[in-house]
Amino acid sequence: MDSFKSHTFRQPDSSEGRIDSFTFSCIDYRFDEHVRELMRHIFGMDATFDSFTLAGASLGVNKPENHCWPLTFYNTTDLSISLHNPKNIIALDHEQCGYYRAVYGPLSPEKEDELHIKNLKKLQRKICKKYPDISFQGWILKLDGTFVRIV
Ligand SMILES: [Zn+2]
Repeated sequence: MDSFKSHTFRQPDSSEGRIDSFTFSCIDYRFDEHVRELMRHIFGMDATFDSFTLAGASLGVNKPENHCWPLTFYNTTDLSISLHNPKNIIALDHEQCGYYRAVYGPLSPEKEDELHIKNLKKLQRKICKKYPDISFQGWILKLDGTFVRIV
């Protein structure tokens, strides 16, 4: 059996009561650290958040053909709310997303940006309706490393 001790593991503190955010992003391995970077930008170095990944982030939730994807997303969001009471839901899409190409076909950078904006706004409408007491932010990570808030 292989084992090792984490140097960054943080014991859950039940007295905290409420985390900053439920955060979700694309599965793409290139952007794992960027979710943490965005949370630190918004909430500071001690940002607390639950995280969830789904191919295409906002598109993965919005695409009606993926019946079980939005169900899994909303079930997970509900659980995060009941366990950790996040004040915000934050979506992070990224440029040059493989799932966008898989769904829409080849895209110019301008067209892909347009579709990210459309999907983040659509998701904002759904989340604000379902969770009226939780604020929503939708961001895109550009390939040059710039985070842009869309909603
Ligand atoms: Zn992606």
